[in-house]
Amino acid sequence: MQLVRILLLLLLFSPVTINAQKKRISVLIDAGHGGSDPGHLSANSAHLQEKELNLIIAKKVGNYLTNNLQNVDVTYTRTSDEFISLDARVEKANNADVDFFISIHCNASEKSKTHGTECHVHTFDSKKSVALAKSIEKEFSGKAGRSSRGVKDNGDREHTLQVLKFTKMTSVLVECGFLTNTKEANYLNTTEGQDIIASALFRGIRAHLKKEFPKISFTKDAEKSKGKSNSIASKTGLYYVQITSSKEWIDTDHESFKRTGEKVIREKLNTTSAYKYRYVIGSFSSKNDAKSVLDKVKSKGFPDAIIIEK
Ligand SMILES: [Zn+2]
Repeated sequence: MQLVRILLLLLLFSPVTINAQKKRISVLIDAGHGGSDPGHLSANSAHLQEKELNLIIAKKVGNYLTNNLQNVDVTYTRTSDEFISLDARVEKANNADVDFFISIHCNASEKSKTHGTECHVHTFDSKKSVALAKSIEKEFSGKAGRSSRGVKDNGDREHTLQVLKFTKMTSVLVECGFLTNTKEANYLNTTEGQDIIASALFRGIRAHLKKEFPKISFTKDAEKSKGKSNSIASKTGLYYVQITSSKEWIDTDHESFKRTGEKVIREKLNTTSAYKYRYVIGSFSSKNDAKSVLDKVKSKGFPDAIIIEK
């Protein structure tokens, strides 16, 4: 009898049972820095600060997860430009008892040549964190065409990463590229670059989820029937307001852009046309949101503005 009771207890509390009963997965996305803490800076003052890039990429990853997967709950440590202490970030993750903590950052180096993505874990002993980190780096170096510097742990760093050390769940800190490398900083400052980075993160997370929780169906039914679950890179479903294009490089801080009251992003187009640059506002997850900004910028001196979908 005693043996049966022990076996029953073992069954009840074994991780396998917990996983088998699990129906939904929670992901906390942490955009590094914010508010009075700008993070790393690019040498180009027209570029966004690290805190801004982190937030843009974090939201894109969150949107991809929410819009393309089912049974996944996404929360954020911040959704605006506010200062949040490292302790508060850890506390939020542990109190909410999320399954995954994913911190998003951009890197810097004294050497301007240094470039590439990195995925950090607290220690190589945390197997699930390492597996997730590898899955993300694989996507960076694969389809996204980034140069991967691999997975790093405490032994590779001069300092401990507090958000990784004290969070109790599977946790990784992603460095999306070096702001001190001109080419990478330029790339990270384009909507296209941000989309590619975010979709690689999304695919890396998705691949890991499917592997770790084979019993949970993450693919949305509509996607399944269309067989389109892998189409995220080409179909992001995000809207932008294109306000103008130009032959020459124009500073996004230009007075005419400031009149829109919106953050304007310059994109270098891969084109043989004379118009090498376009200037967009966004992204918006719904066409209606894009439309209201479109109406506003049209009245502020950009009558030819249009909505584009990417
Ligand atoms: Zn950072």
